[in-house]
Amino acid sequence: MIEKILIANRGEVALRVLRACKEMGIKTVAVHSTADAHLKHVLLADESVCIGPPSSADSYLNVPAIIAAAEITDAEAIHPGYGFLSENADFAERVEESGFAFIGPKAETIRMMGDKVSAIRAMKAAGVPTVPGSGGPLGTDDAENHRLAKEIGYPIIIKASGGGGGRGMRVVHTEANLIKSIQLTKSEAGSFFGNPEVYMEKFLENPRHVEVQMLADGQGNAVHLGERDCSMQRRHQKVVEEAPAPGITGAQRAEIGAACVKACIDINYRGAGTFEFLYENGCFYFIEMNTRLQVEHCVTEMVTGIDLVKEQIKVAMGIPLTLKQEQIKITGHAIECRVNAENPAKNFMPSPGVIERLHLPGGLGVRWDSHIYTGYAVPPHYDSMIGKLICFGNDRTSAIRRMDCALKEIVIQGIDTNIHLQREIMNDGGFCEGERNIHYLEERLEHLV
Ligand code: ADP
Repeated sequence: MIEKILIANRGEVALRVLRACKEMGIKTVAVHSTADAHLKHVLLADESVCIGPPSSADSYLNVPAIIAAAEITDAEAIHPGYGFLSENADFAERVEESGFAFIGPKAETIRMMGDKVSAIRAMKAAGVPTVPGSGGPLGTDDAENHRLAKEIGYPIIIKASGGGGGRGMRVVHTEANLIKSIQLTKSEAGSFFGNPEVYMEKFLENPRHVEVQMLADGQGNAVHLGERDCSMQRRHQKVVEEAPAPGITGAQRAEIGAACVKACIDINYRGAGTFEFLYENGCFYFIEMNTRLQVEHCVTEMVTGIDLVKEQIKVAMGIPLTLKQEQIKITGHAIECRVNAENPAKNFMPSPGVIERLHLPGGLGVRWDSHIYTGYAVPPHYDSMIGKLICFGNDRTSAIRRMDCALKEIVIQGIDTNIHLQREIMNDGGFCEGERNIHYLEERLEHLV
């Protein structure tokens, strides 16, 4: 059994993990930068350790400081949250080598899924549908690359195997630009990611982003918890997420879910994870796997009633999954709006500062996951997300109505937020109809902001 967990993160996810630990009777250690001594979870944790100055590189990404904090507090496991070190295979390895449990998959799984070419190969082998493409790294034979691109059909996209965060990709519309684009992407990939390997795939022009939530125990058991639609994005950043994805039938869910379950078992996956797909014309195309908890995990929790963080912790304790696929039922509809300290009218400029007044919404089906409180100063050093509002309804329309009412109730004074924009999205005709693609929000923004 694990009796004490160190939470290697900050903000709302650190608080989310802390709450799960408290409910399970597990002691908690918070680590924080000097800018974060007053974070809510730091104040609520059993112990806290300052691990460095504000800059993430010196604190939340400072592996020796985090391991040392676990050692001096006698923690037995480390939860990485999302972002920061959560998908860093070297960190996972160091954690386990130092004698702590890493609450996530094995380092080798993170490494395999972090490299897009090896991830796609593993998925293909498991029978998960992938985007038509080269299936492997591109060589230096121009004629062969021309042949490949022609076979796949333009437009195509050149992607870095080691890419991430929406970087290291280039769309090619015509044959004339192919070779130059491959060379450019290779040299960028080499300098950004330290790995010049690139591959080619069909560029899907109007896809939706649909992802499947998984839980697996690394002992031969895996289940899927249905899908989420995260097509409302700005600059590849998700803004609104929902579960289930509009228009996906039970049969489609069962089919893609079964493929993901098989893949998890094939790669001996351990923990919570997400298969991300582009979805176009009724077909799913795998793009990547996130080997961690995701920001938007809450919408899945609301429609399944399953606490994903508690499940992660149980798996890390070596307890086999007791959930059976047939027990997992999707009920109703949940929507999440990310609340960011930013000003959409000023090109989404971040808006750090002191929260002078705060009133929160409530009522049936309203969930607020956030670390902010009156008097809390949002630091300028980190991601601008300050909270997530999640609303549940018996159907999508009720969830949207409830979200609109809850957003109207929130008062956050002292900083700018995107709450007004989120209300406009909830009242946007296209969003309300559903099934909009990943370009929709950006196209609407000029009318909404
Ligand atoms: P990253 O790891 O950098 O987030 P992804 O492979 O997840 O990279 O792709 C990020 C985004 O780039 C996708 O959500 C999608 O908007 C776009 N994208 C990636 N591959 C394709 C493709 N084959 N066709 C169309 N868009 C793509």
